[in-house]
Amino acid sequence: MPDTYRKDMQADDPHVTLITPSAPIATPSHGGRAKCLQRLVRLELPVPRTVALSFDTVHRIAQGEVPPPALILGQFAPGTLLCVRPSSEDPDWGGPGSVLNIGMNDATFVEYSDRIGAEAASALYMRFVTGYAIHVARLDPDVFEEIDTTGQQGLSDALRAYEEEAEEPFPQDPAVQLTAVLRTMARAWEGTTARLLRQAKGAPVDAGLGLIVQEMALGLGTGECGSGVLQLVNSDTGLPQITGRYMHQSQGREALRNESKALFLERDPRGPSLEELAPEAFEQLKAHARLMRQRLRAEMQIEFTIENGRVHILDGVRVKRSPRGALRIAVRLAEDGIISREEALMRVEPRGLSELLHRQVSPEAERDVIGRGVAASPGAATGKIVFNAAEAQASAARGEPCILVRRETSPEDVRGMHVAAAVLTERGGMTSHAAVIGRGLGLPSVVGAANMGFRLNDKLLISQDGRRFREGDTITVDGTSGQILAGAPAMVEAALDDAFRTFMSWADDARDIGIRANADTPADAATARNFAAQGIGLCRTEHMFFEAERITPMREMIFADSPDDRKAALARLMPMQRADFTELFRIMEGMPVCIRLFDPPLHEFLPTDRAGLRDLAEALDLPVSDVTRRVEAMGEYNPMLGMRGVRLGIAVPEIYDMQARAIFEATIDASKDGAPVEPEIMLPLVSAMKEVELVKTRIDAVAAAVRNERGRDFDYSLGVMVETPRACLRADEIAQHADFMSFGTNDLTQMTYGLSRDDAGRFMSHYVQQGVFAEDPFHRLDPDGVGELIKIGVERGRHGNGGIMLSICGEHGGDPDSIAFCREAGIDYVSCSPFRVPVARLAAAQLALKERIG
Ligand code: PEP
Ligand code: MG
Repeated sequence: MPDTYRKDMQADDPHVTLITPSAPIATPSHGGRAKCLQRLVRLELPVPRTVALSFDTVHRIAQGEVPPPALILGQFAPGTLLCVRPSSEDPDWGGPGSVLNIGMNDATFVEYSDRIGAEAASALYMRFVTGYAIHVARLDPDVFEEIDTTGQQGLSDALRAYEEEAEEPFPQDPAVQLTAVLRTMARAWEGTTARLLRQAKGAPVDAGLGLIVQEMALGLGTGECGSGVLQLVNSDTGLPQITGRYMHQSQGREALRNESKALFLERDPRGPSLEELAPEAFEQLKAHARLMRQRLRAEMQIEFTIENGRVHILDGVRVKRSPRGALRIAVRLAEDGIISREEALMRVEPRGLSELLHRQVSPEAERDVIGRGVAASPGAATGKIVFNAAEAQASAARGEPCILVRRETSPEDVRGMHVAAAVLTERGGMTSHAAVIGRGLGLPSVVGAANMGFRLNDKLLISQDGRRFREGDTITVDGTSGQILAGAPAMVEAALDDAFRTFMSWADDARDIGIRANADTPADAATARNFAAQGIGLCRTEHMFFEAERITPMREMIFADSPDDRKAALARLMPMQRADFTELFRIMEGMPVCIRLFDPPLHEFLPTDRAGLRDLAEALDLPVSDVTRRVEAMGEYNPMLGMRGVRLGIAVPEIYDMQARAIFEATIDASKDGAPVEPEIMLPLVSAMKEVELVKTRIDAVAAAVRNERGRDFDYSLGVMVETPRACLRADEIAQHADFMSFGTNDLTQMTYGLSRDDAGRFMSHYVQQGVFAEDPFHRLDPDGVGELIKIGVERGRHGNGGIMLSICGEHGGDPDSIAFCREAGIDYVSCSPFRVPVARLAAAQLALKERIG
């Protein structure tokens, strides 16, 4: 192309910039595509001549201020065909579709017919007329899609259809064509729907759009002509694999849309390949892609054209990637020395990690959605429907995976949950019982599926479209998306491979806040260790009392008339508790284990149905009517605000005495043959200093007695859960009696809002949709209200006791935004469900790195 055609207009208009190695092009002003093309130009790759329009210019075009077309057209030889593509700051935010072959008109058609043949020239022109008619002139798409002729006939049919619909001939002047295309694309970006769509992908309200105008490298014509895309990795696995397609006589991404006509890139037993057809071009493409990986420091997908055997690189975008692909790509780039470990850590989205830890429904699987609810615990599982815990156990005994379907779960269901493959409930939200236990067990769970019918008495589950599913029917719970699916879709396995472990160890090197796990059982503790938690931050002890051999002495203890009777029942429970703790301590091998003393209202342990009442009457040797009356008498109007937590420690102190003894004896036993154990004992639901003082005195006395009896010494620490607003406000004096304070943000959120954590799921979606809450506060810590109380608690707690250790152990401990808040507030560690530990480790690492990098 003679240089006389290229009038360098940069000096006149800085917003229309020819992309050269030194042109002033930047992602925040011209978008990612423009910047990437400049990088490719710098690498001397065969990129067609391209002009970039800045965000500001495009915004002005949308307002009607289009720059003189000559400013752009002057950069190209007369008669050059052009394309316009979007260039937003982040390619993931999308943008209007590209328009190809601008400049085609009756005159250029004749020229191109001579050069590349009438057939190819007709296809180019027809494609432009159709795209222009539908996207720019906004004519009825059906009229053009119905044209079934091709070649010159197709072209004249398309031109006639245009003239009839638009009531004017197809514009011939390239300046008019280009102006209209630019205006349409600029306006499309500013439309409300497009704005909302990109905001949903994380774009700021005022995100700008750049455009690039590029000389067409034709994929049609004589010799080997065509187009395609190529990348060096598999997007799903992140493993090296040349993927993509190539198609003869095609443009844009047609190769991806026409699988049957497209060629493979590498030699492939399934069909012909570009490697066989045009080996030189294929080698060149691979070399270009490798160079891009090295120098652009990312796995790129390249869009290319082959024009009469010559390769052109039109574009490069970062490859699309699944969470597991993203992690492996980042690790390989760092291991190859292309990026630093820190950069690799910043390139993976923490929330995406939880998808790696569980089986998932395959992205390719067909989804027959029969209901949806809150995605309470990630992962997917298929099984046969069961409607109660006993059936779940029976099913497990037969070796059949089952899905436990309940209205909501209670501690009595925990045994069933342990053996179920997944849980589905009608009620509940992110911190309801099923959700908390499900996450702890790594059990896929969907709760609050209120759009399904739960006819438990009829053993019937009814889908949102009225289909009936009975006990034994197979369904799939997708706890990642919140969907319930009929049948058994294809799954992909968890990906806890070497790449995962390497990556997580880099995260641990970077982070500066501790991560522990909430773990109640040996299985939880083993999972916590597997995910490299630094200890147990919360062991809820109440679940331990539901096992068959424990529930009866537990109930006898609850029914005891005198402290002595109570002690006798507790003495039967003590060895079992001691065994629980010894096992936990052994698994954790000297790491800190924080055991929370009994928390729930006692009547949760009493039977609710007739058969249970009868069994209890038998065990206690009492008439059923007596037992029923006493169970009723124990009912509370507001159990979550009633006789629970440390209040039991004051009113029924024998329970905590027994638990303290079990902890201390287990400490001695586990320390004998393993690493020394220093248990942490935690009091729930504290609201007053005096509660701590009283309970502490008793626990110290138990410790002294055990030391005496066993002739062995041990250390322990005693702390409190801060989960009432009053405990935050009075943290100064409470801290004087505590070695540590752990914010129980589930209850603290419940009490700060006066919002039941078990019922909020019913209306939370209205609140979030109408913008009353930006997010479910049980899911993401409310930084304003609950957060203010935490800050007060931290400040006053540290004032009262300079050496106090502070943590949070509510579900928020696994949420990246909430972790950011905790780190900022000066909290020492967060504790979350074992399966969220990796998410927390990465989120914490990214926070530290962001601060370091600035
Ligand atoms: C809490 O309230 O935040 C907490 C961790 O305890 P639980 O969920 O057992 O009430
Ligand atoms: Mg609590």
